[in-house]
Amino acid sequence: MTARLLDGIAVANQIRAESAPAIAAFTARAGRPPALAIVLVGDDPASAIYVRNKLKSAGDAGLRTDLERLPATASLDELLSIVARLNASDVHDGILVQSPLPAAMGADAERQVFDAIDPAKDVDGLHPLNVGRLVQSRAALASCTPSGVIQLLERSGVNIAGAHAVVIGRSDIVGKPMALLLLHRHATVTICHSKTPNLPQVAAEADIVVAAIGRPGFVTRDFVKPGATVVDVGTTPVRDRAVVERLFAPGSKRLEAFAKRGQLVVGDVHPDVAEVAGALSPVPGGVGPLTIALLLKNTLLAAQIRAGQRPT
Ligand code: NAP
Repeated sequence: MTARLLDGIAVANQIRAESAPAIAAFTARAGRPPALAIVLVGDDPASAIYVRNKLKSAGDAGLRTDLERLPATASLDELLSIVARLNASDVHDGILVQSPLPAAMGADAERQVFDAIDPAKDVDGLHPLNVGRLVQSRAALASCTPSGVIQLLERSGVNIAGAHAVVIGRSDIVGKPMALLLLHRHATVTICHSKTPNLPQVAAEADIVVAAIGRPGFVTRDFVKPGATVVDVGTTPVRDRAVVERLFAPGSKRLEAFAKRGQLVVGDVHPDVAEVAGALSPVPGGVGPLTIALLLKNTLLAAQIRAGQRPT
């Protein structure tokens, strides 16, 4: 079997095209475009690329974008004061603080920052109020990546209701909201993590596997029931040739790309899974573009709600 491609670029383009008239209508009515502020702390190269892509995509879609940068040596107080300023700003509808924060900021820094963002501007749905609303299935703003996975599944015709879904990973930003969103769409959900015994056997019972771990090629074909749908959320930059050669066949495009750039962003799903799965999302071109599309959609939604307009 060769798995059907779950084309994240095509689905993200659909979502962007659908949002375009609403962005134009908001701009005409409010006299300003919906505005997204992104805060980037430190010089993590992967984060810098993600932020650049988000800003470009939002700008192309007609949103106002503002980037606030802080050095890796910045204090948590400096970061919190930027968040407070953006919370008070009339023109900013969405605030995204790029994760991860530098380790030097302290183990609890991310939680303190997410707690500080105005829930009405919390476009990644990480404020406890929005997480609570998500648990009760009444969230307006839900985390972009798992929301993007749902869009990818639904718009690709994958049946969620009644399916057994296994989510591998239990982070606040991906795994947990992913499990809740699948549950609200009537999947039977199992959440796996680093302490789950017999993980391959558990995953192999699933109709839908979502891998959000951050370990290149971790999900091998023995994790996958023939015909199952597999969504690969993982994006790990790999510089080690041996790791890349273990995953990709000699002469493959991915190996060529590594030879050119000396680095490759690799998913959590081993390429061989394509021979077993019924449908598979690629890395790149799977979940990544949807995370960005949902960020635009959430910024528009936050702007509409803040302006008292009916969300479209
Ligand atoms: P995270 O906070 O590091 O969480 C990783 C999760 O994976 C944890 O729950 C961990 O379990 C679990 N895990 C790690 N090793 C495991 C193992 N050997 N067996 C089973 N479970 C294991 O990561 P995250 O923020 O959720 O991100 C996960 C991946 O998604 C990363 O590659 C990240 O770059 C990517 N990502 C992509 C996008 C996108 O737009 N495409 C967006 C966000 C994240 P424990 O809880 O037991 O430690």
